[in-house]
Amino acid sequence: MTSLHDLMTRTPGLPCRLDPDPFFSSSPTDRQYAARQCHGCPLLLACMRHALAADEQHGVWGGVDFEARATGCGTERGYRVHIRRGTAVDSMCQAAHDEFVEADRRRRLAEAHAVGGTVRGYWMHRRLGEEACPGCKGAQARKSAAHRERRRAGAERPVTDLRGRRSAEALLCPETAVHALALAG
Ligand code: SF4
Ligand SMILES: [Zn+2]
Ligand SMILES: [Zn+2]
Repeated sequence: MTSLHDLMTRTPGLPCRLDPDPFFSSSPTDRQYAARQCHGCPLLLACMRHALAADEQHGVWGGVDFEARATGCGTERGYRVHIRRGTAVDSMCQAAHDEFVEADRRRRLAEAHAVGGTVRGYWMHRRLGEEACPGCKGAQARKSAAHRERRRAGAERPVTDLRGRRSAEALLCPETAVHALALAG
């Protein structure tokens, strides 16, 4: 049986021989360009079958980006492989990742709504670019009110008997502490 290599040697004008760089480029965009060059190649089917049989992990063969195929491009797994390897994230993987992130936020939001709304749910709404529902807004408002109350209570606490002790105010404001100690004699 004639090998692909023999067929390629005998066939003039093959795009992958005239300009091989994009066929094995690390850039997904270059490889997409290369895959388009295969269209109309008389060896397209033989080339694709050869790559499938050889379980190719790199390069473009028979109009197929085998690197993207091995990476799982167009899926969240593909996106993570790009990040791990430090290779450029292509638009298919970016779209899959954006979808994954949004689905994850929706799942967390559903958990928040199952308990009537939470602070985390409030932030999930914000990250999804939408207005928070009344339940999540209420949870966030209660948290802010409690925070303000704690701050107010802390600010009102008197500075007393600082001699030989460290109060919260003394730690927060050294100048006040020094002044209080001077007054206390
Ligand atoms: S189908 Fe195969 S032989 Fe033809 S141009 Fe593409 S990579 Fe080259
Ligand atoms: Zn990809
Ligand atoms: Zn909500």
